[in-house]
Amino acid sequence: MPNTPKFVYAFSEGNKDLKDLLGGKGANLAEMANLGLPVPPGFTITTEACRAYLAEGAEPAGLHDEVQRHLSALEEGMGRRLGDPDDPLLVSVRSGAAFSMPGMMDTVLNIGLTDASVAGLAAQADDERFAWDSYRRLIQMFGKTVLGVDGDLFEERLDAAKRAKGASSDLDLDAADLRALVDAYKALVAKEAGRDFPQDPRAQLDLAVRAVFASWNGDRARLYRRQERIPDNLGTAVNIVAMVFGNLGADSGTGVAFTRDPATGKQGVYGDYLANAQGEDVVAGIRNTVPLAELERLDKPSYDRLLEIMEILEGHYRDLCDIEFTIERGALWMLQTRVGKRTAEAAFRIAAQLVDQGLIDDDEALRRVSGAQLAQLMFPRFAAASDGADADAPEPVAEGIAASPGAAVGRAVFDQATAVAWAARGDRVILVRRETNPDDLAGMVAAEGILTSRGGKTSHAAVVARGMGKTCVCGAEALAVDPRGKRFTARDGVVVEEGDVISVDGTNGKVYLGEVPVVPSPVVDYFEGRATPDGEGQDGLLTAVDRIVGHADRVRRLRVRANADTGEDAARARRFGAQGIGLLRTEHMFLGERRKHVERLVLADTDDSRAAALEALLPLQRQDFAEVLAAMDGLPVTIRLLDPPLHEFLPDLTELSVKVALADERGTGSDEDRALLDAVRRLHEQNPMLGLRGVRLGLVVPGLFAMQVRAIAEAAADRLRAGGAPHPEIMVPLVGGVQELEIVRDEALRVLAEVGAEHGVPLDLPIGTMIELPRAALTAGQIAGSAEFFSFGTNDLTQTTWGFSRDDVEASFFAAYLDAGVFGVSPFESLDRDGVGRLVALAAAEGRATRPGLGLGVCGEHGGDPDSVRFFHDTGLDYVSCSPFRLPVARLEAGRAAVLDGRAHGTGGGTADTR
Ligand code: PEP
Ligand code: MG
Repeated sequence: MPNTPKFVYAFSEGNKDLKDLLGGKGANLAEMANLGLPVPPGFTITTEACRAYLAEGAEPAGLHDEVQRHLSALEEGMGRRLGDPDDPLLVSVRSGAAFSMPGMMDTVLNIGLTDASVAGLAAQADDERFAWDSYRRLIQMFGKTVLGVDGDLFEERLDAAKRAKGASSDLDLDAADLRALVDAYKALVAKEAGRDFPQDPRAQLDLAVRAVFASWNGDRARLYRRQERIPDNLGTAVNIVAMVFGNLGADSGTGVAFTRDPATGKQGVYGDYLANAQGEDVVAGIRNTVPLAELERLDKPSYDRLLEIMEILEGHYRDLCDIEFTIERGALWMLQTRVGKRTAEAAFRIAAQLVDQGLIDDDEALRRVSGAQLAQLMFPRFAAASDGADADAPEPVAEGIAASPGAAVGRAVFDQATAVAWAARGDRVILVRRETNPDDLAGMVAAEGILTSRGGKTSHAAVVARGMGKTCVCGAEALAVDPRGKRFTARDGVVVEEGDVISVDGTNGKVYLGEVPVVPSPVVDYFEGRATPDGEGQDGLLTAVDRIVGHADRVRRLRVRANADTGEDAARARRFGAQGIGLLRTEHMFLGERRKHVERLVLADTDDSRAAALEALLPLQRQDFAEVLAAMDGLPVTIRLLDPPLHEFLPDLTELSVKVALADERGTGSDEDRALLDAVRRLHEQNPMLGLRGVRLGLVVPGLFAMQVRAIAEAAADRLRAGGAPHPEIMVPLVGGVQELEIVRDEALRVLAEVGAEHGVPLDLPIGTMIELPRAALTAGQIAGSAEFFSFGTNDLTQTTWGFSRDDVEASFFAAYLDAGVFGVSPFESLDRDGVGRLVALAAAEGRATRPGLGLGVCGEHGGDPDSVRFFHDTGLDYVSCSPFRLPVARLEAGRAAVLDGRAHGTGGGTADTR
């Protein structure tokens, strides 16, 4: 016969590292017991038993007897038997999975009380009221969580009992009242559950254990797991612990405590205490708790002991712990501890404090914080939200999706031209649109924040806003936006006209009328060089950020570059730690005033007219590049040749058709407009994403890429001759096959040689390609033959691998996909490792097999996503490139990745990347 597994562990057999088997609660109870702290005796049924129960639909063989053996040992140790009529042992039954999981059955207290043993408890405690109070609590909790009776029905009867007595608190009910309540509860259970409340103590225990097992598969628990990406097959453990009583009178009570302030990280005494109460009373809010510091006055010995234990726990766990405790007639008992949740700022402060205290080292401090937390610290906030003063917070008029965090206040404007004009005259504006598109870009740049009524977290508005570090709430569906009337209508018919001030909170998706006060992020001031780490008033926050990010820079292997298109962006990127530019998109250089040159290029019907259009663009481009190369002197700047389809730079088809039709009717039409309309029609595409864009444009629009390469080469030559150190790199977008790249490369090499000769300087610029199509990834071995570097364009690679167009699908069905758990997070936000990630890994490996020194980077949105950075580190890329605002996050996560895979580097990433 195979060995039956061990299903039950006494606390003395467990420890904190056995979370998977004993759950968090069980593992930590064992740890505390083994530290010699006052934990009531008990034992834990393993998650393995739960898995077996769920698989078989019944307790696995041997479990019943194993529980009995541990129960007997517990009874012996306590000198009482479970439910004994004269002197009953009572136990609590509590669920506890490896991850803390709301939605599962939590706790049933006082198991072992029956019609017979309630008298024994009364006699032993010399307190009849206490015994009946404990019994009614058992029936109430058991009825609700084990037998599935609606909890409100119990509350109704409790309220009725209080009303009948004219009492406001449950403390005013005496033994007789509670006894009557027990009868009412039992009748309720019989009626609602179709069975009597069980009078056999062991049956109570077994039913409660089974209910805990089954609660693993409850609807709310499943939903929570799906959202949090917790695997479904872990199961929960069950803790069975001897009861200690906080409801034995004024010298008893129960409370929760933190070893430091989880909101700020400050050291001190934080928590709540409730006298004469059992655990669930604290959270249920039936009576007001008192601050933990009050306990010092109420029961000094217990308070002193609690502080002593908190110190032991912090020292042992080397972290902030949260604690549940009970005091029974002056004796302190620890019921639970775990490493406590905390805010982002507390996480940084605590990690640095613990290093200062010598409890952890810098590597460990880096593991204790996350890029997501650093990102939170980098956004301005509304003062009301930041100090938690909810009572004073105004009522929102709408709520949408919190798409790009931060707080923005400004006048509502409804079109990009007004946004630009008003911002230019010094007004702060919020751009309000149904949804945004590339035409709104200038308005988005000018605005403090963006508010849309349509679209999800990865809509155009959201992605662009995040890239710019700008506050955005999108998909506020309750808003009726009327761009023509320049107004929107919100909740309760409130109308906001152009010019009215609104406040938008991108951290929680709320929209307010009027001005809500905003506080800037001190962490951004620090990265910008406007605040020093040891400056006033930060209580160590900036010192902590400085220390931890500084350590990340020392240990990371991945370098970080920025996606930046202008000299100004490049300068900021440098302040934020960029080691170069990984993606300079050239498309914005074809907008605005320059559109007319693009129109001429498209309309050109002779070589001369085409050359003239390109000739007009050349100096403008050269100046653009000169500015960025100056700002990034000494560091690499990857410049991508034009990517979007040309029609994006031409007038809108519908508008132009109307214009031409009206003009023709009036007899004022021009040949030029008609020719332009023809061209716009010719270039119109059903699926522009999959159409004439990227390298394809370079191949079919003669001279376009050559002009761009010449502008890059001339800017570099000028800078070289001026004594600078330009390192431009030429990047070709949307390559699917090596032949495409070869053609562009040959032409680029010709132009570089020409310009080099004209200026008398050698121009040996690296030429590489984006890998953003599945075919490019799959043929990376061939492509690497003609590319000196790859940069993974994971935005396009995600769309083309999944076969969905980002701009379309995010607004239409991503919300449904997220709800249905098809993905836990949008693949445009966090890299889809199983699909897109495999293509990246394959292309990296096959590219390097062809060309061992091949440079590898990523410049899609994922380059600044904490989870994805870890993947890029593991895959062996050289750098990640992201928007300037994400750089500190990328630096931190690159450091964490190095520490987490145990290969911290010491110097690598922190040095400048000058090939
Ligand atoms: C990409 O596709 O990942 C990329 C960076 O290019 P773009 O987002 O400009 O298409
Ligand atoms: Mg792309």
